[in-house]
Amino acid sequence: MEIEIATIGGYEEVGRQMTAVRAGDDIVIFDMGLNLSKVLIHDNVETEKLHSLDLIDMGAIPDDRVMSELEGDVQAIVPTHGHLDHIAAIPKLAHRYDAPVVATPFTIELVKQQIQGESKFQVDNDLIKMNPGGTMRIGDSEQVELEFVNVTHSIIDAINPVLHTPEGAIVYGLDKRMDHSPVIGDPIDMDRFRQIGREDGGVLAYIEDCTNAGRKGRTPSESVAREHLRDVMRSVEDYDGGIVATTFSSHIARVSSLVEFARDIGRQPVLLGRSMEKYSGTAERLDFVDFPGDLGMYGHRKSVDRTFKRIMKEGKEDYLPIVTGHQGEPRAMLTRMGRGETPYELDDGDKVIFSARVIPEPTNEGQRYQSEQLLRMQGARIYDDIHVSGHLREEGHYTMLDALQPQHVIPAHQNLEGFAPYVDLCRSQGYELGRDLHVTQNGNTFQLVE
Ligand SMILES: [Zn+2]
Repeated sequence: MEIEIATIGGYEEVGRQMTAVRAGDDIVIFDMGLNLSKVLIHDNVETEKLHSLDLIDMGAIPDDRVMSELEGDVQAIVPTHGHLDHIAAIPKLAHRYDAPVVATPFTIELVKQQIQGESKFQVDNDLIKMNPGGTMRIGDSEQVELEFVNVTHSIIDAINPVLHTPEGAIVYGLDKRMDHSPVIGDPIDMDRFRQIGREDGGVLAYIEDCTNAGRKGRTPSESVAREHLRDVMRSVEDYDGGIVATTFSSHIARVSSLVEFARDIGRQPVLLGRSMEKYSGTAERLDFVDFPGDLGMYGHRKSVDRTFKRIMKEGKEDYLPIVTGHQGEPRAMLTRMGRGETPYELDDGDKVIFSARVIPEPTNEGQRYQSEQLLRMQGARIYDDIHVSGHLREEGHYTMLDALQPQHVIPAHQNLEGFAPYVDLCRSQGYELGRDLHVTQNGNTFQLVE
């Protein structure tokens, strides 16, 4: 069976991930993401109203015109998890394909919300839920099967899809940490990866996220970030002024730890900001998390301001606002608090807890610096970097290569510079550039089996 791979987006940047695999006449697309930094740099862009081609020209969504070079039918569009660099181009591109979107329940729910927010295109693709561990036949040949292997990442319900073909398995390895004690959900299913590596035919190709390949050792578990956070919160337990926390709103495990520890130190947690309300509300509705019944979640400007006024009146010392803005995003809640645009007033000595790390990218770094300075100018004390990454480091990558023993390796989810440490690792394991180690760019296709 012919096997061909199209590396469509995310091979020159972190963002706008999209890869297609053709097995015989059947094609499966993995991820359709947005490159947020290309959008945020324009202050007034509303992607909901933009046409696909304009977004492609901006470098914001994958340039999927290369799909016309693949001869076959797209049978499924498979986002691996709900981060925007993996799902947010679906409203702009999916309608071009007569295929369902297949993903885990939490991811499907987020895809549904993306599609509902779209105002330019009518997106009618079926949305099919499949749980981690689930399988699905692809096409009519009865020889190709899609499987979801459970992985752990900084968002719940993440998987690595595996396409089983007569030529071996193609493992799409984007976005995972090897977590054996995650705070929510099951540990990464390493047993299944090892099994797939040993099955007949083995692994034909492994497409891998290189994000932290240059960092030594292994990425700590979410339970480490949780204990770090618990310790920080305990250290400010006796403070009788304002404490504010921020984290990734899609990071449900972290948000739930913040909620729990707020109560432990005698404060009422409250989630503020549109995306805080969106992700936590969705996770709660789907029973991934059981928040206290009286937990307030407010997204709209008016209800947020009303909540801040109530906090100021009743006493800041009784509350822990958990807000958006960990990257210093200009319109996010914490940045607005720093600029003095909300009714919440910061006093000398008030604490701001960043349960996040700055995404190392010049726009983020600049915005975060600015936001932090504004908070400091009002007297805030900053607690930074209470976080673990969602991506594998060097020893995690080594363990994956050892488990899967892939015939071919394709580095992804980075630019050339970001590929380099992963390429070094692969070469140390006997892979050779141009032979079985394929460094490629956006818009390329290559045939692994003729
Ligand atoms: Zn991700």
